[in-house]
Amino acid sequence: MIVRPRAAVALNPLPVDAVTVEGFWAARRAANRAALPVGRQRLTEAGSIPNLRAAAGETTAVPEGLTFRDSDVYKWLEAVAWDGSLPDDLRELTATIASAQRADGYLNSVVQLTGAQPYAHLGTSHEHYCAGHLCQAAVAQARATGEPGLLDVARKFADQLAATFGPAGRRELDGHPGVETALVELYRETGERRYLDLARHFVDTRGYGHATPPDGGFGTGGDPGRYIDEVPARVAETVDGHAVRAVYFAAGATDVAIEDGDTELLSAVRRQFAAMVRDKQYITGGVGSRWDGEAFGDAHELPPDRAYAETCAAIGALQWAWRLLLATGEAAYADQVEHLLYNAILPGVSLEGTDFFYTNTLQRRTNARPDAQRSPAHGRRPWFNVSCCPPNVMRTLASLPGYVATGTERNLQLHLYAPGTISAGDLRVTVETNYPWDGRVEVTVNRETELVLRIPSWAEHATVDGEPVAAGGYAMRAVRDRVVLDLPMPARLLRAGHRVDAVRGCVAVARGPLVYALEQPDQDAVLEDLAIDRVAEIEAEHRGDLLGGVTVLHARGWVVEPPRRPARLTLVPYYAWANRGQHAMRVWIPA
Ligand SMILES: [Zn+2]
Repeated sequence: MIVRPRAAVALNPLPVDAVTVEGFWAARRAANRAALPVGRQRLTEAGSIPNLRAAAGETTAVPEGLTFRDSDVYKWLEAVAWDGSLPDDLRELTATIASAQRADGYLNSVVQLTGAQPYAHLGTSHEHYCAGHLCQAAVAQARATGEPGLLDVARKFADQLAATFGPAGRRELDGHPGVETALVELYRETGERRYLDLARHFVDTRGYGHATPPDGGFGTGGDPGRYIDEVPARVAETVDGHAVRAVYFAAGATDVAIEDGDTELLSAVRRQFAAMVRDKQYITGGVGSRWDGEAFGDAHELPPDRAYAETCAAIGALQWAWRLLLATGEAAYADQVEHLLYNAILPGVSLEGTDFFYTNTLQRRTNARPDAQRSPAHGRRPWFNVSCCPPNVMRTLASLPGYVATGTERNLQLHLYAPGTISAGDLRVTVETNYPWDGRVEVTVNRETELVLRIPSWAEHATVDGEPVAAGGYAMRAVRDRVVLDLPMPARLLRAGHRVDAVRGCVAVARGPLVYALEQPDQDAVLEDLAIDRVAEIEAEHRGDLLGGVTVLHARGWVVEPPRRPARLTLVPYYAWANRGQHAMRVWIPA
């Protein structure tokens, strides 16, 4: 995202192409790139691309799936645009989408093919949500390739929305937010104020019953929490209801606050984010603990074995955290960006990039029985009947360089540490590091500049050029040619909060930015029988041959099943679990 010049931001984002990333993230992005053609094939098999082809008159296929299938295609197109691969696919599908669009700008393949009335069931149809994903894909295509094809389609659709909805038009809201961030991004790209005005209208009128369908929709009996329609954004104290919708909406509200300099709205979303982190976030960063309604639970309702923690919710939380970081410049939000990427989003995709978790459990038991299509007991899966998560992961990994740094050619902030280069004007910054396995980060610049380095909150005893710096903030240095940041990475034990009943008395293990897990293939005893010694030292060992190259941790503990005996526990990064078949795993370990 590139904010408008008058936006109220503390930090300025850089274009995605200003940053190149090597090392750890390059490997994950290469897998993602290789999986993009597979994604297209699955969108075809699921009927998502055939729906659009039929709406364009290219075929006579019968529409498949729910009314929001188009959104999966748009998310995949956004991934392709940011990634810079498959340009012919991008052009070909852009032409199909343009042909499918009605003359008045409206576009939804399923609604058009079934002859339904547009916006007749907005609470459950997600037509605005689909429009939002079209706008996001269009902005990505325009910024990454300079081609206007999809942007023309998105503008026509957004113009139709602006002519239909708003203070002088229809007042209903989509049951699924997402269009708000997209309209603000479209405003940033085009400068058309009416898109920002419509986003503001959608933000300001939510929470008053305009989104909840009269019949409740999906058999929910009119539960406004499912539609993020209970409490207006400006007065909400926390996040509630459907987690993906809640965080997408909050990210959109933050965008509106940024572009309009709306300090009241900004302080409201900051308050809600703080409550989410304090009360409703798993140790992995995952949010939305309830399977019922895919919703946030009550405060401290965070069962590890029944965690829903949808991958999309973590992605929405990332988008929200990033916007709050830009608005405030506070390092705690950058800590969240890093935490969510490594420990909540990356676990959602296999190392090959082709299989996905919809829900992200923190514990899988021995011989777990899959009880639903989304059950983690299946392991990661190729696609889902509602397949929001897979293309969402694809677009996030494709756009990852955009989260590394912010700034201008005079003052550059480094938020994520990865080997690679960053350009801003004539400034060129080179980063060398083996992060996240090693905390030494060497930064060189081609001319004197002010560098601002994030010191993660976990990085006790960090130094910059040998001088101690405080954890949990930023260190600023005028750098002539080179600076060395050292972030010590001893393994650390994290105690479960005493209010989180299901894991009371347990500990989790982390090292640097990574949360670790016990997985059965690395143990000599049944996983459920293992306990960890809280005081014994934990040793790190880098294993280039394991799971694409990971640092494993060896801890001491016991087999508690009689006769009790000592045991060696080996932990792998949580993101890498479930890549060796379906086995027992746990993040929280009895101590
Ligand atoms: Zn999802």
